[in-house]
Amino acid sequence: MAAIAQSDPSLPGWAALAGSRRVLDEARGQLASDPVGESDPVALLADLAPRAAEVARSLTGGHPRRVVNATGIPLHTNLGRAPLAPGAAAAVAAAAAGYSDLELDLATGRRGNRLEPICAKLELLTNAEATLAVNNNASALLLALDTLARGREVIVSRGELVEIGGSFRVPDIMARAGVDLVEVGTTNRTRAADYANAIGPNTALLLKVHRSNFEVRGFVEEASLTELAEIGAAHEIPVLEDLGSGTLIDLSERGFPTEIFAPARLGLGADAVCFSGDKLLGGPQAGILLGSQPEIDAMRRNPLARAVRLDKLSLAGLDWTLEAYLDGRAETEIPVLRQLLTPLAELEDRARALAERLAKHPASQRREITVAPDRGFVGGGSLPGFELDSWVVTIRESNHPDQLAESLRRAAKPVLARVRDGVVVLDVRTLLAGDEDIIEQALATC
Ligand SMILES: *Cc1c(COP(=O)(O)O)cnc(C)c1O
Repeated sequence: MAAIAQSDPSLPGWAALAGSRRVLDEARGQLASDPVGESDPVALLADLAPRAAEVARSLTGGHPRRVVNATGIPLHTNLGRAPLAPGAAAAVAAAAAGYSDLELDLATGRRGNRLEPICAKLELLTNAEATLAVNNNASALLLALDTLARGREVIVSRGELVEIGGSFRVPDIMARAGVDLVEVGTTNRTRAADYANAIGPNTALLLKVHRSNFEVRGFVEEASLTELAEIGAAHEIPVLEDLGSGTLIDLSERGFPTEIFAPARLGLGADAVCFSGDKLLGGPQAGILLGSQPEIDAMRRNPLARAVRLDKLSLAGLDWTLEAYLDGRAETEIPVLRQLLTPLAELEDRARALAERLAKHPASQRREITVAPDRGFVGGGSLPGFELDSWVVTIRESNHPDQLAESLRRAAKPVLARVRDGVVVLDVRTLLAGDEDIIEQALATC
C-alpha cells in the first residue's frame, strides 16, 4: 500500500487498497499453484507495487473515458457506437442535472406520458401508424416477441438465427420471450414457400432478422420482406422485422443499401419493425419500434414495457436527435451521418493537414509519416460487407507498430488506431472536433 501511495500519491486510498488486494490475491494464487517452483518469487514481488498501482488507476478517473476514435469505424461497438451530437449531449446533461417535466403536462398540471413527444416526432418522420421507444433494440425485440407471440410459434429462417455479439443470440431471446422457434429453410437458402409450409394453427408471427454483422454469398436465396408480408396477410399472421440498424433518411441515392431506411419497411408490408437508436440513427442507446396501432398498443400495455423503458437521459438525447431530423439538420449535425457522408476529397484534405501537423513535431524525426487512401467498415452491426473509402495518416517507425498503437492507447488521452502492413494507421473519418490536438499530444509522448 505505502509503495503504491509513493509511486502515485494522487491515487485515493480505496483504490490503492483494492489494487493491492487484487494483485496480492493473484500472486498468492500463482505461488500456490506452482508447487515445483517454476515462477520467480523475487520478480513477482518486485512487480506487485507497479501492478497494484495500475489496477488502482484503472478504477479511478471515471468510466467510460473519452478516447479518440482513429479507427475510421463510425459505429465501433467497443468505443460506444454512435457519439451524440453536441446539442443532444447538452440536452442529456440538462435533463440529468435538474428536474424536468418528464411525466408532467405543464399546461394542465396533470400526469403526462414520458414518450409522447418522442413518439409524435417518430410518427412525423416515419409515417408509421404507431411508434414506441424502449431501452435498446434487444429489449424492443424481446417486448415485441413477448407481446405478439408468447406461448406460440414464431417462424424464422435458419439463415437469420444470428448472434449479434455480446451474448445476443436470436434463438436465446426467443426462448426468453417464451415463444416456440420454428426454423425454416437452410443456412444459405430460404424460400417464401418454406415459411408458408410451416404455418400451422399455433403460428403467431413471421420474424425477419437482418444479418447485421456478416454476409452470405454464393448459392443463396432469401425471402423478401414483401413476400413474407404477402404470406402473412394471406394467413392473417403479423410480420415483424428486426432491422438492427435503421436510418430515418433514405441514403440509397448516396450509395447506401436501400433496406436500412426504416420507414420504407412498413411500406413493404411489415407490421412492426425494430432497430437501434445508437447505430445508423446516430442517437443514444434506444430501441425504436414502428408499426401498426394494434400491435404497438399491445406492446405499450405489456408489463415488460415498464421493465425495458427508456430512461430520461436517453430520452432527452433521442428527442434532440429526432428534432434534428425533422429540422433537416441531421446530415450536418449528427456525427455518424456526417462521418458517413463526408466527401472523399475532404477526408484527403484532413489527412494531409493532420500528417503535416504531426510531421512538424520533433518526436516525428524518427518516424515516417505519410498519407494514403484506405478502406474501412461502418461497424456496430451495420452494413456488413459495405466498405467506406477513406484517407488515412500512416506512421512507420523502427519499433513494431503494435508498440506504438499500444502507447497511443495508453496515453493520458487515449487514441485508438489501427495497425496494418507494418504501419500505424489513423483514419480521419471518425475524428471529432479537437481530436487532432489530442493525437498530436499523444504522439509527442509516445
Ligand atoms: C444490434 C442489433 C440488435 C441489438 O440492438 P441493441 O440496440 O444493441 O440492443 C438486435 N438485432 C439486430 C439485428 C442488431 O443488428
